[in-house]
Amino acid sequence: MNAALTLIAQARRILVVTHIEPDGDAIGSLLGLGWALMSLGKDATLACADGVPAPFRFLPGSENVVTRPPSPHGGAGMDPLTRGLTYPGQAGGRYDLIIGLDASDPSRYGDAYHPERYPGIPLLVIDHHVTNEGFGTVNLIDPQAAATAEMLVALISQLGVALDARIATCLLAGLLADTLGFRTANTRPETLGVAMRLMEAGANLTELTHQLFETKSLASLRVLGRALAEMQLDSRILWTEISQATLRECGATSGDASGIVNVLSSVRDAEVAVVFRERPDGSVDVGMRSAPGVNLAPIALRLGGGGHPQAAGCLLPGPLPAARERVLEELRRSLESPAEEA
Ligand code: 5GP
Ligand code: MN
Repeated sequence: MNAALTLIAQARRILVVTHIEPDGDAIGSLLGLGWALMSLGKDATLACADGVPAPFRFLPGSENVVTRPPSPHGGAGMDPLTRGLTYPGQAGGRYDLIIGLDASDPSRYGDAYHPERYPGIPLLVIDHHVTNEGFGTVNLIDPQAAATAEMLVALISQLGVALDARIATCLLAGLLADTLGFRTANTRPETLGVAMRLMEAGANLTELTHQLFETKSLASLRVLGRALAEMQLDSRILWTEISQATLRECGATSGDASGIVNVLSSVRDAEVAVVFRERPDGSVDVGMRSAPGVNLAPIALRLGGGGHPQAAGCLLPGPLPAARERVLEELRRSLESPAEEA
């Protein structure tokens, strides 16, 4: 923590990046830390390679997020997603510090961060994945934390920044997203203590819950219908898959299919729920959830991904059936001999 505070104190121009296929913790943490850095007078550039998905665009500051941050070697200025807008940061690609959020390996930053673009610039990794081995110059990693946003509350207060309504709103969104509204096993008394501080600072729990869990696109329900119609129970593994063709037919984006794995995991007979999503480039995003007693983290690691004991994932080469068979085989083996996971 002290090394992290020193790095931030000494930096003026900071690039903050979060992971691809961003969830609420990825975006909430990015924006919450962004506001805190700006209130310290830092020049902060916020980046997410996949942009900010529609469900999170209500969060303050989301319009400032860029997909391809400028690098010292140029190529800067225009953002392919917001077309025409220049980057908000004044750094022109010359950063003193890069902060990476909520990702357990650097490939998860996608095109938002490639180390070779920033030689000699320190990387501060802030993350709560148990599978994070610490690939930064300084690593702040707490697998006990329910969300990266939870960790940021402590960091921000140690930086001497008072929580305001904007910071608190973004961070409570992150906390809610990763605990599914304080319902998952990673919710500890400390988590609720942090949530209380965020509410006291002006975050509206009811409004955030409504935005994050009760506001959906029509396309996302269409995809859910297709995914549920095609799901299969294979011993104790409940899985379904969503191809690009299905997304097209539903008029949906990949983000519209992001919560489906949580629906599958509510089935009593399923010990593991898996959703396979085909990406536009043909690779397959694998999202997994497990009942307590099945530790997904080492399984995801063996598949080249990462995550938490009860929620993990990986990205595999296509085609869909090949990726599916590889994952199901790995899961069957792990369920047959759970002792290996101890
Ligand atoms: P989700 O199913 O919500 O996409 O992901 C569940 C958890 O696994 C999240 O904590 C997420 O960060 C992690 N995860 C998902 N996909 C990958 C991946 O490709 N690589 C790594 N390292 N972690 C992943
Ligand atoms: Mn997270």
